[in-house]
Amino acid sequence: MDDSAFQETIRQLKAEGLFRSLRTVEPDPQGRPGRVAIQGRSVILMASNNYLGLADHPRVKAAVISAVHRYGFGSGASRLISGNSTLHRSLEERISKFKRTEDAVVFSTGYMANTGILPCLAPSNGLLLADRLCHASLIDGCRLSRARFKIFDHSNLDRLERLLSMKPDVQRALIVTDGVFSMDGDIAPLDRLVALGRRHGAAVFVDDAHATGVIGAEGRGTIEHFRMDPHDAIQMGTLGKALGCFGAYVAGSRNLINYIVNKAKTFIYTTALPPSSAAAALAAFDILEEEPEHRQRLWRNRNRYVEGLKSLGFDTLNSESPIVPIMVGDNSTAVRLSERLLDSGIFAPAIRPPTVPKGTARLRTTVMATHSTDDLDYVLETLGKVARSLGII
Ligand code: PMP
Repeated sequence: MDDSAFQETIRQLKAEGLFRSLRTVEPDPQGRPGRVAIQGRSVILMASNNYLGLADHPRVKAAVISAVHRYGFGSGASRLISGNSTLHRSLEERISKFKRTEDAVVFSTGYMANTGILPCLAPSNGLLLADRLCHASLIDGCRLSRARFKIFDHSNLDRLERLLSMKPDVQRALIVTDGVFSMDGDIAPLDRLVALGRRHGAAVFVDDAHATGVIGAEGRGTIEHFRMDPHDAIQMGTLGKALGCFGAYVAGSRNLINYIVNKAKTFIYTTALPPSSAAAALAAFDILEEEPEHRQRLWRNRNRYVEGLKSLGFDTLNSESPIVPIMVGDNSTAVRLSERLLDSGIFAPAIRPPTVPKGTARLRTTVMATHSTDDLDYVLETLGKVARSLGII
């Protein structure tokens, strides 16, 4: 392969302020919560989806260690061959109990769940309608399907209704949305999407990756937030965010789950999640239900932070969750802001196109239950100073 083509793309990315490189992140040297070490220096972490801090909760760690002692590490095969342990099935039962659905099935990652489920839910004479700001894995899942695929403007029900009423005679129509949008932090109008879908014979698929454990009275996600029936939408979610673990799931009716187990290629043809990962997630669900203080603290921190940002004059879009974008616009300015924050001991990477639309570069900051009030106040004070010097506010 011609290496110069790669070099040219890299040159262009650098010229546009879009080049990305990997940074290594280590635990905080003194084990302080809400912090990590970058190049040996302790920094406040404003860029993690470990919203509740469960990734290093002692009960999660103990569950992993004990499962590794019993099962070893790798699962050795796909679920349908010999990689299915009691822990996998217990986790699925636990998820369906938490989501109050008939059943659930676990996938190795959220990306795989979305790219595997959507193609098998929408047949070639089906229709997929996805929100413009859906996560990349949902968009890829729609593209992998042989169904017709259209995008509607972000949470714009009029546009969606127009597309639905134009739909030709399709066998199955599916509206696809994030529950909490991963880059904007707002909540999809799921109740209205479902009502609209019903009027036009379309089902709804919701990706609750950032909602599970976070929104709803008991952290059960978007369906609970809107007090809807758990089977009103097909609920997908991940275990790698508020649950602090790894993997993903889809929850719904028993027929739906059996169908997915038989049809989704990213379920059938991949190595099962390590049993210790399932054990970790089982412990994390126990903590979610038995220790509501983590979610309460997360929301206290989040509200304090957002009020602070608003009074400083930042544009945080319509964030309604612990995902709080700080809008900048220009790619290079967003990178400069992020670098200046890192110099001051705050880790909040810039998010640029194609992850977000052109001209909407931002810092995607996330609040965690484990942030100390002092650290959050320091972030606000420093953000204010640095953004003012860059002309952002
Ligand atoms: N959906 C959404 C909304 C996400 O934010 C992510 C992860 N960033 C995924 C799916 C993919 O999940 P995973 O990381 O488990 O592949």
